[in-house]
Amino acid sequence: MSISFGEMDLDRKDISFVPFSDTTSSSPSSGSVSSSGSTNGWAGRKWIVDEAKLMELFRTCSQCGVAIKDKRVATRASQIIIHWTCLKGHTGEWASCTDQRKMGRNNLLSCAATFFTGATYSDIKEWAKLINLQLPSKSQFYAIQSKYLIPVTNHAYKGQQQKILERIFQLSAAGQKLEMCGDARCDSPGYSCKYSTYSFQDDATKEILHFELVQVTEASSSVAMEAMGFQRGLNHLLDLGLDIGVMVTDRSPSIRKLMRESYGNIRHEYDPWHVNKSLKKKLASVSNKKNYRELRPWLRSISNHLYWSCSSSHGDEQECVRRWTSVLHHIRGIHRWEENGREYQCAHPPLSEEDQEKKRWLEHDSPAFRALTELVEEKTLLRDLRQMALFKHTGNPQYKYVYTKTTQQWVAKPVYEPTSQEFRKDLMEDVLNMREEKSLEPWPRPPPLPKRLLQNIAPVPRPDPSELVAQRLSRFKQLL
Ligand SMILES: [Zn+2]
Ligand SMILES: [Zn+2]
Repeated sequence: MSISFGEMDLDRKDISFVPFSDTTSSSPSSGSVSSSGSTNGWAGRKWIVDEAKLMELFRTCSQCGVAIKDKRVATRASQIIIHWTCLKGHTGEWASCTDQRKMGRNNLLSCAATFFTGATYSDIKEWAKLINLQLPSKSQFYAIQSKYLIPVTNHAYKGQQQKILERIFQLSAAGQKLEMCGDARCDSPGYSCKYSTYSFQDDATKEILHFELVQVTEASSSVAMEAMGFQRGLNHLLDLGLDIGVMVTDRSPSIRKLMRESYGNIRHEYDPWHVNKSLKKKLASVSNKKNYRELRPWLRSISNHLYWSCSSSHGDEQECVRRWTSVLHHIRGIHRWEENGREYQCAHPPLSEEDQEKKRWLEHDSPAFRALTELVEEKTLLRDLRQMALFKHTGNPQYKYVYTKTTQQWVAKPVYEPTSQEFRKDLMEDVLNMREEKSLEPWPRPPPLPKRLLQNIAPVPRPDPSELVAQRLSRFKQLL
């Protein structure tokens, strides 16, 4: 049957009710054909239909046209099933979606789409509840999640990781060393974090090679979690036989110490983003003081200049430092100068006389310039810059550096590449296959958690819930 719903008025009697177990229902839409070739796969179009409108279709018998005398409606989460009998005794059964081994396929798919788009069940449920759209319950969602969604994700992740590692081993065999960026992320901001994830990214391709999950009870403090994840992950990668030439991290003292003491043959670089963040903070607080106000219009270009110094020095540590400190010339309106018997000049195009006049350069003997000099030449910053000359980023956007004529400043613009979500389609397909017990390899259960991993990280037992509520209410009253 091939009907274009757009061109033809529907005759109600013409609707063929697809029996419960039939999987060959036709769909007029194009472009939503699953890989199995059936138009009714996970990608088939779906519609929000009012129950009342749906029931209009069950007034007369689809076989003889007489009235339906008996209707029984059953629901299985998002799926509605209608059993009917007409006055002449014909019976039929219609379901709102195909079954996937005895489970309404849309139950599986709605949970899968929630999980694979990174949403939480409660987000989706709130939304659905407000328009009274039928979805699987919370317990059904979690059952599907642990039985299908996590295994499918894990399977895909392992497969992807294997592919990446194979490519890297090939490069390694050809003598190429790996440049790796690492960064930690906590499940919640601040000091109450329960889990910390330390990820390792291949700098060349920005692919995540590996991550380590640490629970706070494993470490002495939430700060120590980062170093623990880092060390565990790095050891794992080295154990795999990877040849790591450069490791980029933030400047956390514990990781610094580890790199120095345990991984001396790996070049340790700092992520300019972290360094720039702390520089910006210092600059902002200095320029807020009365005597240093003239610094204010320069804050953005100083911070951009830091990026530029790292990104343009191609791994040359001395050049990186020299470029950075050259800001102390430019900011006074000096664009050519001599240093150690060599002549240098700013990298920007020559300024017109008018521009040179207009700009509010700093005076050599002004307090603002002296304060800036102190910040720019700070010992730890210069030391860190030597470890930023390769200009590696950990997971932050790539930047391009452009000189804008209007502001006469170098500006860092993040370059965002559109991400592909194509892999989600494979995951959806895998979920259906897994439900059909097809092709996916069994997923080994993780070993049981060691004893000291606690369910609850609070150092004191939870008080009685009613007590907590009372506390909250009294706080609320104080606010009124
Ligand atoms: Zn009939
Ligand atoms: Zn200049």
